[in-house]
Amino acid sequence: MALPIPISSPGGPLPDRGLTKAGEEIAIYYWYDLEPLSSRSGTNIRAYCPKHHSDHQRSLSINASNGWGQCFGCKQRVLIRDWNPRLASALVRHAHEVLKLPALDCSARTLRALPPTSPDLSKPKRPAPAPKAPGLATVQPWQEEERRLLHTLQAEGALRLERPEAWNAQAYLAARHIPLEIALTAGVGYLEPGASERYQQKLLRRWEDRLVFPLQAAPSAAAGGLVLDGYAGRLLSSWQYYPDEVAHKKYLEQQDKKRWIKTNPAWWFWDPIDLPQREPVVVVEGPLDRLAVLASGGFQPGEILALVGTALQSRWLAGKIRALLLALDADQAGHEASDRIARDLAFDHLLVESCVLPADGAGGKDWSERWRRRGDVGMQALYVSHALLAERL
Ligand SMILES: [Zn+2]
Repeated sequence: MALPIPISSPGGPLPDRGLTKAGEEIAIYYWYDLEPLSSRSGTNIRAYCPKHHSDHQRSLSINASNGWGQCFGCKQRVLIRDWNPRLASALVRHAHEVLKLPALDCSARTLRALPPTSPDLSKPKRPAPAPKAPGLATVQPWQEEERRLLHTLQAEGALRLERPEAWNAQAYLAARHIPLEIALTAGVGYLEPGASERYQQKLLRRWEDRLVFPLQAAPSAAAGGLVLDGYAGRLLSSWQYYPDEVAHKKYLEQQDKKRWIKTNPAWWFWDPIDLPQREPVVVVEGPLDRLAVLASGGFQPGEILALVGTALQSRWLAGKIRALLLALDADQAGHEASDRIARDLAFDHLLVESCVLPADGAGGKDWSERWRRRGDVGMQALYVSHALLAERL
């Protein structure tokens, strides 16, 4: 049998450039780029080095348990993205920041840079306020009770994702490439079917088979300095048959089931206690978008805020945030919301920019779908926009 042709020829897979804190360049590959001519025994993998040429043996040694590898020939260190996605994305992001690599497919557009350098005496009237979050005054007694029940379950660990009863949620998150520990850190829970009967609480019925996302706003004087909490629930029923979000949405609509529900009142899916060391804060639309961005690595929980259908109110930002990167959905509603938020926050001296999802047709209309389908490659525009805005602060 003829020897396989080494893949280390010009035109071979082009790695992404990653940079360690110590300044070492790491070549970052996808496993499918190296897999075809590799050999494997246990976690030890040997592959042809795509970096240096005329390689007649598999001089690249990779540890499949952590994705790290090194070539015995050219000494190049590599990382396999699939096996260490968080680290890979952190290294790529660092390389973009330090090496000032050109933006890949980023179409960030500056909405408005504020405040203006000279006082504008002809200050326009403040625009009509954005839709208000439900006020406490409109809360029905059953809504108060529903929120209390969910709060109690969460506090007692009865929603925890790592319980065996939460297998459906675990599988769903795994299919969306969201590690369980990311979801746990963000406080995500799950209420299993049959729970309302077991707890003898009819109000919990509509929360069964749902991922439960805790919603919070920063402590404010209006709330007596308390962190306000609420919940959003995402129905998972039959997701296995409709792994595509759009298809699942259609299916649930046909079944007359609500894909998303929220308590009243409800706030953002964010962590206002853990305000970020670093800005801008990235604003996304859905809870799963937030999890996807957190899963892509390098961001702290306080750095990503999901609106969950609630208006962006600057007083909920605890007065400590200076800059926001809006990364809303790539649809008409997302664009309109971006423009409205930028207009409203213009009066609060916040620096607001928008990162539009690249219209490359391959990634879905939100970050969660991009992350599921394309991994880090799908998130590059966000990393680059974030790095560029961070640099201006
Ligand atoms: Zn090599």
